[in-house]
This record gives sequence, structure tokens and C-alpha cells, in this order.
Amino acid sequence: MYRPTKAYIHLAALHHNLQVVKSTAPNSKVLAVIKANGYGHGILRVAHSLSSADGFGVASIDEALILRQEGFLHRILLLEGLFGENELALVYQHRLDLVIHSKHQLDWLLQSSFQGQINVWVKIDTGMHRLGFDLDQVEWVIDQLQQSKKPFQIHLMSHLASADESITFTEKQIAAFNSVAAQFNYPKSLANSAGLQGFKTTHFEWVRPGIMLYGSAQQPCLKSDLKQVMTLASEVTSLKWIPKGEFVGYGNTWQAMRDTYVAIVAIGYGDGYPRHAPEGTPVLINGHKQPLIGRVSMDMICVDVTEMAQTIQIGDLAVLWGDDSLTVDEVAQLCGTIGYELLCGVTQRVPIVEVK
Ligand SMILES: *Cc1c(COP(=O)(O)O)cnc(C)c1O
Repeated sequence: MYRPTKAYIHLAALHHNLQVVKSTAPNSKVLAVIKANGYGHGILRVAHSLSSADGFGVASIDEALILRQEGFLHRILLLEGLFGENELALVYQHRLDLVIHSKHQLDWLLQSSFQGQINVWVKIDTGMHRLGFDLDQVEWVIDQLQQSKKPFQIHLMSHLASADESITFTEKQIAAFNSVAAQFNYPKSLANSAGLQGFKTTHFEWVRPGIMLYGSAQQPCLKSDLKQVMTLASEVTSLKWIPKGEFVGYGNTWQAMRDTYVAIVAIGYGDGYPRHAPEGTPVLINGHKQPLIGRVSMDMICVDVTEMAQTIQIGDLAVLWGDDSLTVDEVAQLCGTIGYELLCGVTQRVPIVEVK
């Protein structure tokens, strides 16, 4: 690896954040959500660090099989259930937990000839209107599962749409969930990270934290106890003065209002640094916030380091995010997106360095 670009993954921070989950919801089991390659941190790495969780949540069988092949015996929930009927054999073979969110998935399950115990999580649509059975269908779905005489272990779940943005809407979803789920004595699950942190009444038997395990949160107040897991960093690879009036980068979008010392840092959208990062987005150079200038290139960015011209040198450390003074959420907000997207977007070519 000759380029200095690296993603440092702090394993102790993952473990710490799981402890925060457990102390926040001490009576709940934890289904650690590690879909999308562990939110970009590497699914196996994350699973090993979070092995004291009670289970894992993934998006597909491919991810579940990676975990089983590594020897994980945890419960593994397929958060979107099956994409095709033919996946059911693998679900039984590898003892995976299964969400069912719609009639066609229910039919696949009921019509199959497979036998054996299986954990089925009936997903209820409590207002997000993405996946799930309508409130008035739930009783019927449970009836169907019971009548089939197969050894299904039923669970009830729903997903919160805006626990980090709207108290009113979240309270409505909690009430809707209770209006149906309270009649049944099955294990229940409602909380994502924001629900878990903001609403005790979402905890139930299982919580399903994702983003908080990685140290990110939409609302700064939800972040206080968490430690960032990924530090994305590179180095200064070039330095030069340009005269006032000259332009920097593709498209000549940035013009120097004064003589400017420009640092080039070896990171770009080819690494997952967002191309739409606006001018002024901070880059931490030797611990000092310096503004991004010009467009983000595939392999490089340009930074105005005039303020530190006396001290900066080739090879100096440049942190793009994942430091106490520059969080992934701060960069995401400036880019009009969320920490999730930036973390998931770090590309294959960025080597990962594990930090114990
Ligand atoms: C992704 C996901 C989660 C985790 O959400 P975070 O906001 O990352 O905590 C929980 N439940 C379901 C169904 C999900 O798809």
C-alpha cells in the first residue's frame, strides 16, 4: 500500500459503544446491526468486536453466511427477510432468523415443505410505510403462522422513521405498535439507535442498534457517550504557493483572494470522500482545521493551509473525519448527507488498519 490513505478502525471503541447500548437498555437483548459490511467497517471485524451482543442484524443471506462460515453461532436476523423463495433452504440449514414483512413472504414460508424450528419476526408497519404488515393485518398473519402447526417462534417488530427528528411522530409509532403488539405475549423489538437513546418505551425484549455502535448519531446530544470507530486519514503530498487571482482545481471553481499556500491531500471521491463536499469543509491537518478549496478530485483534494504555512510539511497527517474535533457527522452535515452514507461509502481501495 503505497498511498498514505487509510481507514483506522478502533476496535475498543466498538466495544465501548456496545457497553453504552447495554447500559442504556439494560433489560433488553442486543441485536447488533452490521449490515452493509458493518456500515463500511468490515463485517467480520465488527462481528468479532461485538461478539458479546446477543445477535446480529444483516440485510441478506450473503452477509449471514459470511458470519456462519466464520463460526459465529449467534442469532442472525435477516432484516428484510427473503428476496426469493429459494433462500428458505439456507435459512433452515443455517438457522437464521427471518423477518416477514409482506404477504408474499408469508406464503413462501407457509407453503414450504421445510420442517424445524425457525424464529419469525413479523414486521408491522407503524407509519414508516416502507416495509411491514398493516396494523389490521397482524392478527391474521399470526393466526396463519399458528395454524400452520409448524414450530415457528414468533416475534413482533417495527421500525422507527424519525426517532432522531420527531418526538411526536415517534410517540405515534410507539402507540401504534403497542395497540397491536400488546395483545400478544411474544418478544418485541422497536428500537433503532435513535429510539434506543431517546425513548425508553421502545426498548422491549430486543433493541436493534446500528449507527451508534460506530460512534455516529444524527443529533449531537445522542453522541456524547459514544466513541467514533473509523478515522479516515491521509497525508499532505504536495505544497505550493499560488498568487492571488489564480484558480484551484477542476472547473476553476475556487479563486484565490490572496496569495495562498495550497496543500494537496491524497484522498478523493475514489476513496469515498464525498465529491459534493463544499468549499470550506474542514480537514484536520496536524490537528488544525483547514478549509477544503476547489472541487474534490478522484484521488486528491486541495486545502488552503496559508495559516500554517510556517509549519506544515510534506507527509503531515490529514484527518478527513473520525476525530473528536472533526466527527463524521460534522462532515456529513456540511455535505448534505448523514454519517451512515459516508461510512458505508469508503471504497475498497482504502486499506483498513485495525487499532486495538
Ligand atoms: C438498519 C436497521 C436498524 C439500525 O438502524 P440505526 O439507525 O443504524 O440504529 C435497525 N432495524 C432495522 C430494521 C434496520 O434496517
